[in-house]
Amino acid sequence: MQRRDHPLPSRSLGTVRTLTSFHYGPPGGAKVYVQASLHADELPGMLVAHHLRERLAELEARDALRGEVVVVPVANPIGLSQWLLRSPIGRFELASGENFNRHYPALRDAVWARIEPSLGPDAQANAALVRAALRESVAQLTVESELEAQRRTLLALACDAEVVLDLHCDAEAVLHLYAGTPLWPQTEPLARHLGAQATLLATESGDQPFDEACSQIWWELAEKAGPARPIPLGCLSVTVELRGMADVGHAQARQDAQALVDFLTHRGLVAGEAPPLPPLPYPATPLAGSMPVTAPVSGVLAWHRAPGDWVREGELIVDVIDPISGQVTPLASATDGLLYARENLRFVTAGTRLAKVAGQEARRTGKLLGA
Ligand SMILES: [Zn+2]
Repeated sequence: MQRRDHPLPSRSLGTVRTLTSFHYGPPGGAKVYVQASLHADELPGMLVAHHLRERLAELEARDALRGEVVVVPVANPIGLSQWLLRSPIGRFELASGENFNRHYPALRDAVWARIEPSLGPDAQANAALVRAALRESVAQLTVESELEAQRRTLLALACDAEVVLDLHCDAEAVLHLYAGTPLWPQTEPLARHLGAQATLLATESGDQPFDEACSQIWWELAEKAGPARPIPLGCLSVTVELRGMADVGHAQARQDAQALVDFLTHRGLVAGEAPPLPPLPYPATPLAGSMPVTAPVSGVLAWHRAPGDWVREGELIVDVIDPISGQVTPLASATDGLLYARENLRFVTAGTRLAKVAGQEARRTGKLLGA
């Protein structure tokens, strides 16, 4: 194992923050990248990364890693240091207002310019060209802030990996995944090993989150290059939502870390025989079919349904109660589907998204992710 520290440019006199990556297994071949807590205070991923590192150290000691596995257990030191009146602010950078998991640079044109003259009929050779061009393009990105430097550092560590796992969590939720639509066949074994109760698929979810910055370029380049110069889907990049903010515990984290090792074994990146694939709890659904339940008024929440519940269109999910007027506003699901996440606050302002239901039918357009 090798530890590497990546200092970020100082934002303010007298302070320097650092990203730290841990590298297991032989470099130079297949590569896996796992990062935790890009939204700083989404902590289940940090504990899973902690247990995953223990497992990787064991696997490395008995020479069972067939490629390099890079782990960044704390992916957002900027966000982790942001506190306001005793509350953590991990989702948005206070200085710019930007979401830490948006606005990753789109590298398609830069990579295309580098690879286009050299592409040929061999898909694996073309994939190697793409990876080299990605490394060069990311290295040449100019950055003007600590936040941009954090994004570039994470992307530099991830961009040439064949598997990228970005560990997040929701407010209160069952385990669910976000991935690119063309990646579903590769994602399904991961969904089974993790017991993902929903997988939300999109080819473009809006504002370029980290997972899409890693994977989308592959199907875009493949389309540009055409069938005579085949480019494979060379990066399986998945956002893994490890349940809710408070779901941080050793037993669960150990089990999740083992599920990730089982998945890597299934892919041949860890030596040995993978355990049989568990059943898929719920089919993948379009991200455009994930229907929010939104509060039209402010009030106190009283839930009728919980994450993991299957609900019907029109079925009561939650009441919003105004204890001054006595008004009770019942809110129903807009679709049949699995209620996979809900708000963890119990008092909300008007316009708050309270819950998300994974329906089969794509009904939404435009930017598909929340703020
Ligand atoms: Zn997140």
